[in-house]
Amino acid sequence: MTRRFQNFINGRSIPPNSSDWIDSVNPATGEVWAQIARGNVVDVRLAVESAKRASEQHDWRYNPTNRSKILHDIADRLDREHQKLIEIEINDNGKRVREVKAQMSGLGDWYHHFAVATAQMEVENLNLNLDGVSAYLDLIPYGVVGAITAWNSPLMIAAWKVAPALAGGNAVVIKPSEFASASTVVFAELLSDTVPDGLINVVTGYGDEVGTAIIESDEVKKVSFTGSEIGGSRVATTAAKHVKPVTLELGGKSPQIVFRDADLENAINGIMSGIFLSNGQSCVAGSRLIIHDEIKHSFVGRLKEKLERLQFGDPLSEDTDIGPIANKPQFDKVLSMIDRAKQEGVKITAGGSKKVVSGFEGGFFVEPTILENVSSSNEIWRHEVFGPVLCVRGFSTDDEAVSLANDTDYGLAAGIWSVDEEFANKIAAKIDAGTVYINHYRSVSAFAPVGGVKKSGYGRELGPNAIRDFMQEKAIWLGKAVMSDPFG
Ligand code: NDP
Repeated sequence: MTRRFQNFINGRSIPPNSSDWIDSVNPATGEVWAQIARGNVVDVRLAVESAKRASEQHDWRYNPTNRSKILHDIADRLDREHQKLIEIEINDNGKRVREVKAQMSGLGDWYHHFAVATAQMEVENLNLNLDGVSAYLDLIPYGVVGAITAWNSPLMIAAWKVAPALAGGNAVVIKPSEFASASTVVFAELLSDTVPDGLINVVTGYGDEVGTAIIESDEVKKVSFTGSEIGGSRVATTAAKHVKPVTLELGGKSPQIVFRDADLENAINGIMSGIFLSNGQSCVAGSRLIIHDEIKHSFVGRLKEKLERLQFGDPLSEDTDIGPIANKPQFDKVLSMIDRAKQEGVKITAGGSKKVVSGFEGGFFVEPTILENVSSSNEIWRHEVFGPVLCVRGFSTDDEAVSLANDTDYGLAAGIWSVDEEFANKIAAKIDAGTVYINHYRSVSAFAPVGGVKKSGYGRELGPNAIRDFMQEKAIWLGKAVMSDPFG
């Protein structure tokens, strides 16, 4: 019997109002391994009502000390029991066990961080520069917050929303991707005796049903979205109709610039990690290599050699380097974008096809791909693949490198490789991106903001303002002198 994952509402697992289920396919085998609830507007209403009740509890809304304790409890629970989530997430999205273990073992840290941060928040006095009055800033929770997440790293993306939202005194309704919902459901179930009922709710299903219902609910006062540019645009449009703030964490087409003086071994590791780890299914995937003409040929040769040594296989095996693409639509998208690039005359330097893996013939495997002879008019240069595809272009001057790096509608991340730090910092200042890494790539920290410019979205997650992003500012004014008669 196929395992079923129900909605999680008001501290309990409950079947969907529709009685419908959505198949979840294991991308390593191509076979259905589980079903998730097909939520609808009724499930969302129940989840929002329970979240509203929970968010209004005096001991939650007005008590950061209690919130801090509960966030630490969540973190402790995840520290002890995150192993239960690993295989479930791999069955859903095919990410390699080594990467998933690293993400899951660090999951509790996000919650510990915001537990500490909320306890440290202080009342801020405002300098009014006026006589007879003073003022301070009160930060108030939104109440109910909607969190809509993508399939590539469901629980890490959820943590970046749920932890600061809870820290700010809100309750959340999470809508994970229909392609990878199971781990988010089990995460909520795992915490059922740690978290007061209603603070974390999960309704699974389709974006245009569950997602839209969350955004349209009058009681959901803010939405935090991670996903594609198209999805983000739709979410923002719906939210705008309801005058509702949204944070949009969207896609990217991130450049990695390698200068002549770079430490090439370091740069190769950074490029490999940037685009081929997680099969390029990372929002910060460094999908455009912009490299000095004099070192381009040998550098690409070394990348090719590295790719030839990688082992395809079962994502549950520690020995596997390359697992499957996360789902069938994404697999088809990656291959069709490579095909169109071929038709447009782009040169396939490495990979470029699907891969049949012994024992996993039904799986969605794609060869890591390097493309050359790419021009600015090619779709593969302009649009996010969200797959293991690296476009390579050469440059001869620093200005040309910067211009190629910024030759994109996106602006999420960028990498700069040069041993001259002062020079690299000057280049970094000219790059349009929310994050620029110099001689490094891909790390994240709760202390550094994540987010994009241009069509990579707006608003930030993590960083110093993460909790404030889930709270509203209220100015409280205090009269210190008798007011004069306005008509006297
Ligand atoms: P999608 O935009 O397709 O979906 C993201 C989520 O939004 C899913 O849960 C989806 O539901 C839901 N959704 C889709 N349309 C709507 C709608 N109209 N109203 C409400 N909800 C909706 O993105 P993917 O899941 O394909 O994720 C991949 C994308 O996410 C890539 O572009 C990637 O770059 C980006 N991403 C960005 C990150 C960042 O931090 N900037 C981090 C990770 C990924 P459904 O279940 O129906 O798909």
